[in-house]
Amino acid sequence: MGQEFSYFCYRCGRENRLNLPMPNAPDYHHTNLACKNCGDGTHILVSHCPKCSRYVYWINDMSIPSLVESFARYMVHNMQALIDKAAMQGSSISIDTPHVYPIQATCPCGEKITVNLPIPDMD
Ligand SMILES: [Zn+2]
Ligand SMILES: [Zn+2]
Repeated sequence: MGQEFSYFCYRCGRENRLNLPMPNAPDYHHTNLACKNCGDGTHILVSHCPKCSRYVYWINDMSIPSLVESFARYMVHNMQALIDKAAMQGSSISIDTPHVYPIQATCPCGEKITVNLPIPDMD
């Protein structure tokens, strides 16, 4: 289910073509890319519109799933501090942590696409 994808390197401007798996949203494919010309590394997250043949993608120096994960760790750490404090005061809080972090895009065909990034279980 690969599809040809091309992007222009942010550092040297050279076009890179490659074949990437592009699962239909809310699934996605995330991978590291290295420019064939200068070796500059970047991350891509790509997903396919379920309604048409187009795809949407995000290119970033940082790995978006890693950002979600480190943010989730930060949140859980802070929630735990709150929960401990409540326990010392004799009350209890229960918090449901979400399991996915949705990111949204609109396809040129008008379809709203949501990609669900998994949030790792921090318990
Ligand atoms: Zn390059
Ligand atoms: Zn579409």
